Amino acid sequence: MKKHNYSAGPCILPQEVFEKSAQAIRNFNNSDLSLLEISHRSKDFVAVMDEARALVLELLNLEAKGYQVLFLQGGASLEFLMVPYNLMKVNGKAAYLDTGTWANNAIKEAKLFGETTIVASSKEQNYNHIPAEYTIPIDADYFHCTSNNTIFGTQMKSFPKTNIPTVCDMSSDIFSRVLDFSQFDIIYAGAQKNMGAAGTTLVVIKEEILGKTGRTIPSILDYEKHIKAESMYNTPAVFAVYTCLLTLQWLKNQGGIAAIEKINEAKANLLYSEIDRNSMFKGTAAMEDRSNMNATFLLENPELQELFDSMWKKAGISGITGHRSVGGYRASMYNALPLESVQVLVDVMKEFEVLYSKNSELV
Ligand SMILES: *Cc1c(COP(=O)(O)O)cnc(C)c1O
Repeated sequence: MKKHNYSAGPCILPQEVFEKSAQAIRNFNNSDLSLLEISHRSKDFVAVMDEARALVLELLNLEAKGYQVLFLQGGASLEFLMVPYNLMKVNGKAAYLDTGTWANNAIKEAKLFGETTIVASSKEQNYNHIPAEYTIPIDADYFHCTSNNTIFGTQMKSFPKTNIPTVCDMSSDIFSRVLDFSQFDIIYAGAQKNMGAAGTTLVVIKEEILGKTGRTIPSILDYEKHIKAESMYNTPAVFAVYTCLLTLQWLKNQGGIAAIEKINEAKANLLYSEIDRNSMFKGTAAMEDRSNMNATFLLENPELQELFDSMWKKAGISGITGHRSVGGYRASMYNALPLESVQVLVDVMKEFEVLYSKNSELV
């Protein structure tokens, strides 16, 4: 039986994406050829790339607003480098909000290019919240933030208004909630968290912000070159892009982001209510900054870990062991995770309390 898959990434995708992509590997579009053995410049694959790019703009409500969509490689981690390369002027500077390990990795790369101001950081509190008060220097070339902190289970509920270009790493909550996406000038996301197979990175760029740095950018790292080549500057990750297309089609059929957001809220409410109600558990993130995608929680009594672990494993749950930098548990509830899977976890937590809480008659 299919597991209740809470993996943080690569992660659960809609079942139909697994079925259809398997079929495309065997026989793509009834061509008697595999998706993996045809040219990326063939009519059939160009159609995949074109539709995927168009669907991204449609779902984000960014059509006809000057945005371009790229499916690149190198993961979100390469964007940590491409963003400063393409946006930070020679002798320029950048402003970053430090909300977690990934934000911090992005900062490290920006520092290679020039003055990098950290406008605020929650590092001292092990990133258990999103800093609320900070000022963004208006002379920075851009401001960079991370919408969802996959490891620490925090999520930005609002974004600062600023006149400088805003860049957002949305790797772990892209397409999960309605936002005014036009407030961002660059959005990027590794596909493997909410969109498709590992191997491609979605980059959505407001084209007018490019070409202003005075830097010579190596071709493969130059957003303008990728835009000009319609995301085929070099061979794209054909399989990963195809799985993104299938997931985007699935999402559109669900009713788009607004519809999936309601389900995501229901899932998060169900789990967080149980974490707060259940005497055996405690959440790690500040309540107001809790992520609807990755819920992090600890056992009140860590000595009961083996008992709890054996219970959720027996219930068919997979992938809720926490990241080593937080410990405990992390339940990643991406778009494709059904509400029923969350109910299974909540039921296990309730049963665990009945069996092992101090008040329990059995102990
Ligand atoms: C996973 C993750 C990354 C790293 O993505 P890669 O594709 O592995 O480089 C970056 N940012 C966030 C927010 C992530 O969750």
